[in-house]
Amino acid sequence: MSKQNMEQILNKIKEYDRIMLFRHKRIDGDCTGATKGLKEILKATYPTKEIYIIDDERSDFLAFLGSDDAPAADEVYADALGIVLDTATTDRISNGKYALCKELVKIDHHIDVEPYGVCSWVEEESSSCCEMIVKFYDTFRNELKLTREAATYLYVGMVTDSGRFRYRGVSGDTMRCAGILLDQDINTDWIFANLYLEEFDNLKFRAHLYDLMKITENGVAYLYISQEMQKQYNLSREEASATISALDSIKGCLCWLAFIENGDEEQSIRVRLRSRFMTINTLAEKYRGGGHACASGATVYNADEVNALVSEADAMVKEYKESHEGWL
Ligand code: AMP
Repeated sequence: MSKQNMEQILNKIKEYDRIMLFRHKRIDGDCTGATKGLKEILKATYPTKEIYIIDDERSDFLAFLGSDDAPAADEVYADALGIVLDTATTDRISNGKYALCKELVKIDHHIDVEPYGVCSWVEEESSSCCEMIVKFYDTFRNELKLTREAATYLYVGMVTDSGRFRYRGVSGDTMRCAGILLDQDINTDWIFANLYLEEFDNLKFRAHLYDLMKITENGVAYLYISQEMQKQYNLSREEASATISALDSIKGCLCWLAFIENGDEEQSIRVRLRSRFMTINTLAEKYRGGGHACASGATVYNADEVNALVSEADAMVKEYKESHEGWL
């Protein structure tokens, strides 16, 4: 089935002279790597086609990968093929002008809650969308060209979305795809240094987070990052969001949550939900969100909702621990 979907997508790509690549809001390594990686593959393979990535969102964390293309007039979209990567639903596409494209294609690894586009290829079991792009290249390797630059982008997405090849979705295929990228002689020292070196002040902030974190009776670790704290420590939105990672290695805490005040008029609070062994996306869905089994996002609006979400997570962990063995 996936071969058929890939063939349809390749045929669509061949049909168009202009292709616009789209990604999701709150950009991350995977949607950035997948768009930039696919762009490089298409540019190297079809030098006469125009390929664009147009996105207002910026990420300090990913700035080392370079900027995107300049904004374009609506007419530029009108006769283009739009390829949307790593984005389950159209409301999460970061550039709203995707709707102007003549046709859309979806390539994604999230649960397929909203199929869209003239053709769609969704592999929920894939550890990243970048892994899918490597598979796409590998399937048509007689036709498509993979450059070192493309391999670098795709490796960034594979590394970041798989927790450095650690999460459950990592399979033999993931490693085979990573191998194809490593064969391009990419500079992994440079990639890892850019992704994971930290400022000394950040480490001090992390020490503060360990003081602040709370743990529920049954094993939910959580942090509340207020606007006040974000200002006090001069945190970017990304840095505030990254605090979730401080909670991921606590024995017995099968679920961890970060609540991050968005500082908007509605006083919305972004929730990042993570778990190991047990699944958490059903909880996110109850609070205006969704996502993967062990990594989801949601939005709440007040302290009552924060407390309710924490209590529900606690009950889920309790239930899981009582009915399963072997968790840590
Ligand atoms: P985050 O904590 O924002 O990185 O989200 C973790 C995962 O959940 C990502 O794969 C997101 O695509 C997904 N996700 C986050 N927020 C939402 C939402 N409101 N609806 C559906 N999926 C979401």
